[in-house]
Amino acid sequence: MTDGEIRLEGVDFTYPDGTVALRGVSLAIGRGEFVALLGPNGSGKTTLSRLLNGLLLPTAGRVLVDGIDTRERTVAELALRVGYLFQNPNHQLVSATVRGEIAVGPRARRLPAAEVEGRMMRASVLLGLEALLDEHPLLLTLAQKQLVALASLVALEPLVLVLDEPTTALDAAERRAVMDLVQSIHATGRTILLVTHEMDLAGEYADRCLALSDGELIFDGSPRQIFTDEDTLGRASLEPPQVAQLAARLGQPRPWLSLDEAAAALLSGRSAAPGE
Ligand code: ADP
Repeated sequence: MTDGEIRLEGVDFTYPDGTVALRGVSLAIGRGEFVALLGPNGSGKTTLSRLLNGLLLPTAGRVLVDGIDTRERTVAELALRVGYLFQNPNHQLVSATVRGEIAVGPRARRLPAAEVEGRMMRASVLLGLEALLDEHPLLLTLAQKQLVALASLVALEPLVLVLDEPTTALDAAERRAVMDLVQSIHATGRTILLVTHEMDLAGEYADRCLALSDGELIFDGSPRQIFTDEDTLGRASLEPPQVAQLAARLGQPRPWLSLDEAAAALLSGRSAAPGE
């Protein structure tokens, strides 16, 4: 079946040195979902995300991407379905111009020149990079580099984008700009898996949260649910975002997920947040 689903079935992963990073993880992510993968350091987030594009293969169980068992394809083939944005964009940039960088994937696929150019332009427009096409990627700001790395993934038109802590080391304005553009990519029908320990990003952008603790999946539900689930918050060492904590202090029946939602509720004097 080619419905773009990601499916993990009873997945264990043990590193060669014997470290057990994932145990018995089963889950399905449908096409077009925006999922935040949460959990403390060492809980298995990076391991899980690297299983999705075949960088790692499960030591037990199966990982299926769009109906394909990741054991049966190469990383290069899986990269057409799952784009992986590393934390540090400097590790991902290889070309002398932004234009060349965005076109690397389509060129490597040997697409016709007009298709390469079309994809490069579409990705650069989507990520607001048109004015930077002739710049050297390594001379850009960190946030711009992150957007170029994202654009080069988008140009491959994958079903799924895995973003591993994409806003680390960005300031607040850059962080919002990058996340708003990630949301634009999501709006084109891509599935997004955002690996993060920043709960406010999960609340503002994700529809669904998964939480790992010590290699086990301990939560699968909405941001609003996790923000009030004391047991999960404690086990995964997570703290709800300040805006959700404010809602609790003010005795709101449900947590707010964003400043906009808090402002709207406070200004209108409503006691409840809008529906899911
Ligand atoms: P997270 O991304 O949540 O910080 P990781 O997936 O990186 O978690 O790590 C999960 C567990 O696997 C941790 O105990 C970590 O120390 C261990 N681990 C990660 N990478 C390796 C590796 N290359 N070799 C051995 N153990 C590793």
